[in-house]
Amino acid sequence: MDKQQIDPWGSLKLENYEHIFKEFGLNKFEDYSLTDNYLFQRKIIIAERDFQKIKTAIKNKTKFAQITGIASSGDLHLGHKLDIDYYKLFKKLGAKSKFAVCDIDGYVSRQDTKIENIQKAKEFAVKNTADIIALGVPPEEIYVQSQQKPHYYQLCFEASKKITENMFNAIYGHNDFGKISAVLLQISDILHIQLPEEFGKCPTITGIGLEQDPHARITRDLAKRLNYDFEVPSFFYFTHQSGLKENSKMSSSDPDTAIFLGDTEKEINKKINKAFSGGRLTIEEQKQKGGQPEICKVYEIFKFHNPDSKFVQETYSQCKSGKLLCGECKNNCISFLTEMLKQHQEKAKEALPIAKKIVYGK
Ligand code: SF4
Repeated sequence: MDKQQIDPWGSLKLENYEHIFKEFGLNKFEDYSLTDNYLFQRKIIIAERDFQKIKTAIKNKTKFAQITGIASSGDLHLGHKLDIDYYKLFKKLGAKSKFAVCDIDGYVSRQDTKIENIQKAKEFAVKNTADIIALGVPPEEIYVQSQQKPHYYQLCFEASKKITENMFNAIYGHNDFGKISAVLLQISDILHIQLPEEFGKCPTITGIGLEQDPHARITRDLAKRLNYDFEVPSFFYFTHQSGLKENSKMSSSDPDTAIFLGDTEKEINKKINKAFSGGRLTIEEQKQKGGQPEICKVYEIFKFHNPDSKFVQETYSQCKSGKLLCGECKNNCISFLTEMLKQHQEKAKEALPIAKKIVYGK
């Protein structure tokens, strides 16, 4: 795989992590003992850049900050929930925090067939913001790009002066103007939190999927070359929750691959029953050989989203031993998701008025 072939906007699932680590100079993540939270213990984080700075800040209780963002180009699904779970965890670990709802990015970097105008991106931004609040991010930490202040945009345009056509092409493999704008906004999203108007200079952390690494590389490069005294931002990389179908990525573009935060009980039922599992061809075979939770989408949902580690471990061992069969396990998953999303949807509905205010500024 060439460097140019990592496409942050693509829906392909990245494989062969070792190769990517080597090619792009990522470090394997090893600091799982930093917290006993399940998000660390289950080894969902796989790589990092400069995580040492964050580890030191957490241990010494010194200042550090985090920024995470979501492009408002569709409804949020369980994969997005994971971003937000990490955000809440790093906040608990002491990070000063900002959450970006990227409405301009959501429009300018997508085809018109997906997001036909900025109004559509803003409509998604309202729904996304309500979901983000319902998942536990305080409204005062959330901003939308289109409502940002002058210092954010000034930085964005300053960044444009430091990127040449060749450089952009070498990193992304194209020079699409909409995507160039989206990248400039992302650079500003990550770096502006170190401006004096925000948290000031300090180590920062952002959690991303491996396919977002081009953004990390260009932002780290610009942090050194812009006329500011920035700490070079740190990143951690988590494995994306895969899609419900075999060999797929959970993606807003293919609703059957994802459980959306707004899914009804009926939709959850249908999707989980159809999901690819690690079950055997017959019940007899499964009882004899045991199932394969390592490749099972149902188990993956528990692993990524159920904080009850005892339940998750039992599901794994009972599946392996053949005591648990897929029908019962899928029913457990349906109950778990239905309960979790029902509560979530009530909170998201309550958060809508404040979400509208954040997105439209009134
Ligand atoms: Fe997956 Fe559960 Fe079946 Fe095991 S029993 S393969 S975890 S659905």
